[in-house]
Amino acid sequence: MSNSLEQSFKTLKQTIPLLLKHKIPAIPTNYALWYTYVENQDSELHEEIERAIEEGRPFSNIYTKELYRKHVADKEELTAWQLRQSVEAMVTELSQTVLDTQNNTEGFKTSMDTNLRHLDKVEKEGWSMGEVMKLVRSMVKEAQLIRNSTLDFATALKAAEKEVTKLKEELHKSQKDAFYDALTGLYNRRYLNSELEAIDTEQPTCLIMIDVDHFKKVNDNYGHQMGDRVLKAIAKRLQEKCKPNAIPFRFGGEEFSILMHGATLAEAIHQAENIRVALEKISVIDRRTNRSITGITASFGVAALKPDTRRNDLIEAADRQLYQAKHLGRNRVMPMSS
Ligand code: GH3
Ligand code: MG
Ligand code: MG
Repeated sequence: MSNSLEQSFKTLKQTIPLLLKHKIPAIPTNYALWYTYVENQDSELHEEIERAIEEGRPFSNIYTKELYRKHVADKEELTAWQLRQSVEAMVTELSQTVLDTQNNTEGFKTSMDTNLRHLDKVEKEGWSMGEVMKLVRSMVKEAQLIRNSTLDFATALKAAEKEVTKLKEELHKSQKDAFYDALTGLYNRRYLNSELEAIDTEQPTCLIMIDVDHFKKVNDNYGHQMGDRVLKAIAKRLQEKCKPNAIPFRFGGEEFSILMHGATLAEAIHQAENIRVALEKISVIDRRTNRSITGITASFGVAALKPDTRRNDLIEAADRQLYQAKHLGRNRVMPMSS
């Protein structure tokens, strides 16, 4: 284990009993909140929690969420990585601890040894029946105490282990959320940025920016829900029409983009034209009115990565072409040729 991993693992280990103690559901945001509290990174959070504990204020869902929003939300990305690492370590460690607990008869042995020494004395010093019974009772009590605490501990660990598994799944999900757009299932803009960051500048790379034409009218005429269904239909077409080297993203709102690895400008223009034609064929039926929405069109701007361009330059260059496409009357790909 590296030092920082060991440190964050230690923090997480202190966090779990706190969650149990204050009956706080073990969901990632709560872990992040109490993790931050234990870490004492944010003294304001620390002060507020201390005060709430002192006042006996229950950590209700709403209050916990409020604390999280106020003190942790911004730092989520930082702590998520640490949490993930700690959770990995925690799972391994917990299984080991459960095993250790089952073999942990050390304390019991020590007290039994003491009692046996006493028994020795009974023989040598001729104790009374009352004294012997007292000793036996204490031995039984000792044995029970140790047995119970071992059981409690094992049960608590089992529960914690379950929570950790759940947490792991939730973290996995939230990590997924970080890359995917919830409505369309396409990769999101954040993922596009990380892809652009990792671009191999030796390879020809192109970006297509897509903006649906007059989409506001779709919402105005058919309602926002139907608008959402049209966006989903568009995303589906993008996925169908994109070759393996072309990755579609939802850039935001009614804007999409496609990143093409190893493609020339001419190839990207061709790909954009294919998609433009495919989108024209979309038909989404409004079951309440039996009306279908057709005639969806979009404007496309295409740009190729030039040596030494930054990722924002590529987006801007494609955006400038997209603006031209809108300006010239929409439903077209710009530039027209490479
Ligand atoms: P233009 O051809 O100039 O692009 O016109 P437009 O109407 O598409 O452009 P504008 O930017 O004026 O409007 C975009 C609309 O897209 C407004 C907004 O309500 C809608 N929109 C953005 N995101 C969503 C979404 O997730 N669902 C729905 N239904 N509509 C959305
Ligand atoms: Mg737009
Ligand atoms: Mg638009």
